[in-house]
Amino acid sequence: MSESNSEQKIPVKHIDPTDHKKRPAPRRDNKNDKKKGRRQIYVRAAEGVFQTLRSRMNWVMMLSFMLLPWLHIDGRQAVFLDFSNRQFHLFGLTIWPQDLMLLAFVFIIAAFALFFFTTFLGRVWCGYWCPQTVWTFLFIWFEEKLEGPRNKRIRLDELPWSFNKFWRKTAKHGCWLLVSLITALTFVAYFWGSHEAFFGFFTGDLTFWPYFWTFFFMLATYGNAGWMREIVCLHMCPYARFQSVMFDRDTFTVSYDAKRGESRGPRPRKKDPKELGLGDCIDCVLCVQVCPTGIDIRDGLQYECINCGACVDVCDQTMDRMGYEKGLISYTTERQLEGGKTNIMRPKLLGYGVILLIMMSALVATVATRQPLKLDVIRDRNMLSRLNDYGLMENVYTLKVLNKSQVVRSYQLAVDGIDGLEWNGETQVIVEPGEVFSVPVSLAIDPYLLKQPITDLEFVLTDDEGRQVTQESRFIKGR
Ligand code: SF4
Ligand code: SF4
Repeated sequence: MSESNSEQKIPVKHIDPTDHKKRPAPRRDNKNDKKKGRRQIYVRAAEGVFQTLRSRMNWVMMLSFMLLPWLHIDGRQAVFLDFSNRQFHLFGLTIWPQDLMLLAFVFIIAAFALFFFTTFLGRVWCGYWCPQTVWTFLFIWFEEKLEGPRNKRIRLDELPWSFNKFWRKTAKHGCWLLVSLITALTFVAYFWGSHEAFFGFFTGDLTFWPYFWTFFFMLATYGNAGWMREIVCLHMCPYARFQSVMFDRDTFTVSYDAKRGESRGPRPRKKDPKELGLGDCIDCVLCVQVCPTGIDIRDGLQYECINCGACVDVCDQTMDRMGYEKGLISYTTERQLEGGKTNIMRPKLLGYGVILLIMMSALVATVATRQPLKLDVIRDRNMLSRLNDYGLMENVYTLKVLNKSQVVRSYQLAVDGIDGLEWNGETQVIVEPGEVFSVPVSLAIDPYLLKQPITDLEFVLTDDEGRQVTQESRFIKGR
């Protein structure tokens, strides 16, 4: 059989069932789980390099989300998605429905950034930056503070109701609900304004929809981060399902080095594992206990893994304690695990990177050259041209002046392209921010001065800061 055919085969993994029976259960499940019909995951807290990085990134993410609605530029909320007036305000830039191209750029950039980082680093978005993970870890932090570490939480859940259990559970759910409410109000603040959302909510000044969305997002946060947790990642998030399409043998993912770790098993610390016929995995199952999605990474790459690195940190600590080399579980690639060298500069990754850079440059160029004024010219469709009472050939237009800035502006209108044109209509207009101002204009000329039946001309709009846009049109001589 040719090499290419053999590469297409799905590798077969031999699992010895008798060996499996000897192993301890990966985690101690709650006795009540059978009644509930869902295995409860009691996540053990992990510490280490990746957990510090993750926690810092989580704080940046959370604080940015919470504080951005309170940032104001020139008296206006810096990030304000004003759907009722069909405007998005982003750090002094106002995006109108006419600027949909900018939003298209943003979506394309987001898609290619996802392709690029997933191909390069696997699901790092999920582990380090996804709001579902960030809020879940925050909720687990409250759980840990109020109910204690993993083993205590398991015992507490197995105990019958008592005052101790009651106040701890009540305090935990109270904190979760409070965080959910603040999260929901912050979310609503992006659309209704920070002061309106936060103060209006408590003074009863909000209308039906802000209240509806606040309660909706509050329940969604409480349910997703408090109750559903890994279910969202495993069964509801579409990214979990299609991310593997972008993986290749050079994608960095959290992996267990089975060659080094097997055969796994407990052993005295001072004994040489080789003498005992063992690998470096001591089967402490800590990597399983810290996993927020409840998987055993030693079973191989699984779509449930969110690349959070908790198992890497906890296993490195175990290796340290045993005096073994770190990295039994690590961020590595399939090729590296097989003894090869990771190929970073590969065509697929470079392609995604180049497209990403091009799209980002196009977005920056579009924003930098974007004019805060716009002119549309609409010819009178009922009448192409007419002779007026003075024997002049006349064409009628409606000029639409859009002020895309955030201040009132004065605009000058003019026309270019035909000598001797007479302008009938306003030449100077004052337009409110966001307003589209219509100016009816008729242009007239002695028909003997027109050398051809249709002549191109150009309307010119100049604002009070000298910015200029032009719009082409035509003058029709008629018969
Ligand atoms: S933490 Fe490391 S040593 Fe412990 S079971 Fe997991 S892989 Fe084995
Ligand atoms: S297997 Fe490791 S990296 Fe993957 S989700 Fe579990 S703890 Fe995180």
